[in-house]
Amino acid sequence: PVVTRFAPSPTGALHIGGARTALFNWLFARGRGGKFLLRIEDTDRARSTPENTRKILDGLNWLGLDWDGDPISQFERAGRHAEVARAMLASGQAYKCFATPEEIEAFRENARAEGRSTLYRSPWRDTPDSEHPDAPYVIRIRAPRDGATTIHDAVQGEVTIQNDQLDDMVMLRADGTPLYMLAVVVDDHDMGVTHVIRGDDHLTNAFRQKMIYEAMGWPVPVMAHVPLIFGPDGKKLSKRHGATATADYQALGYLASAMRNYLARLGWSHGDMEVFSDQEAMAVFDLSGIGKSPARFDFKKLENVSGQHMARTPDDVLAIEVDAFLAATDQPPMPDHLRDRFLAALPFAKMKSKTIPQLLEQAHFALAERPLAIDAAAAKSLDAVSHGILADLTPHLHNATWEREALEGVVAAGAQAHGTTLGKLAGPLRAALAGRSVAPSVFDMMLVLGRDETIARLHDTLA
Ligand code: GLU
Repeated sequence: PVVTRFAPSPTGALHIGGARTALFNWLFARGRGGKFLLRIEDTDRARSTPENTRKILDGLNWLGLDWDGDPISQFERAGRHAEVARAMLASGQAYKCFATPEEIEAFRENARAEGRSTLYRSPWRDTPDSEHPDAPYVIRIRAPRDGATTIHDAVQGEVTIQNDQLDDMVMLRADGTPLYMLAVVVDDHDMGVTHVIRGDDHLTNAFRQKMIYEAMGWPVPVMAHVPLIFGPDGKKLSKRHGATATADYQALGYLASAMRNYLARLGWSHGDMEVFSDQEAMAVFDLSGIGKSPARFDFKKLENVSGQHMARTPDDVLAIEVDAFLAATDQPPMPDHLRDRFLAALPFAKMKSKTIPQLLEQAHFALAERPLAIDAAAAKSLDAVSHGILADLTPHLHNATWEREALEGVVAAGAQAHGTTLGKLAGPLRAALAGRSVAPSVFDMMLVLGRDETIARLHDTLA
């Protein structure tokens, strides 16, 4: 069975790049009935604050990327990491190095002076245990010096490094705390991770990690190193390009489903699939669809995908997303007594909206209560002439059948009686019904508001 993981270092917000890594792991596992695990790489004690961990979890929760079991703390597993380093010591795959920082620096200076490689070569690698002093030491891996190490990466293909390019890395410090490289391998092994999908900034680590797997006789997981995300200008995505934290996109009111869809397509493709549901993505997501070159973040495309998800989302689901958005952005909740009216406005409001704020703008008339505040632009269309027409129209609305065609007929007749057109009457009607000049079609609004509310709003305007 497939087991993937997302292993963020909680040093700040969840960024787009991390979110995409998490998404790929989630899609891959969920599409195969596997497990998706979360490991918090919190060994940097100064930066790994509970708030930072909270931010990562909040980001994943908003994105709807659910993980299996409890998040694992890497820091809490330090004892187990040390145990593995000692096991490697016992089997001869690692050795104690007593070199002091001064000795290592002296080695490097000599090497530089003599034009040799500055990779540290510890004399302790070949010192028999019986000659070991009673002094502090680190544990270094006994890395192979001959031959080469090859990663068969599912994205990058075969990547090879000559073993003499690597030193015997330290796995355990003198104080007994583990180094990152060891911790990752031990955790991935113990968690049963079968596929490591992560940013290609970790590709060079993979060689060293593979050596630890091999030294322990553990199976090496499938590796997939995904190219980083670039901005529209082809440079590494950063704040200069716009919002980079998932929380920013939540606050901008993008639908999480749209964000998942957009992020899935950022560096992965499947035929001409552009807009899709989670189920559709899970069914076809595969490592072979991940591209070798960096994807560019395209804000316009995100907008479009978001708009299409808005249109596809069922109204009741959308209303729940709106509730969550209002809460997340510290806005007052939707009043219960307006909920049905809001829901009735969604079928057309959502067709014109790409984000939740736009949706709230389109549905403003349904959430507004009498007497409406009339904005300046709308007020302009309510002159003496239009007042007269609206006043004449009102009695006809009392008797009209409350359905679209009948209403169109009544309003068109009212316009004609005053020598004007339906188009010219739309402005004043919008002003009266929505208090705004930019609003949905007047007939859509009338049908949602109903006869009494429509007439009451006209009366308010005329008063
Ligand atoms: N903690 C690492 C990071 O946030 C990820 C390590 C890994 O995926 O192996 O970049």
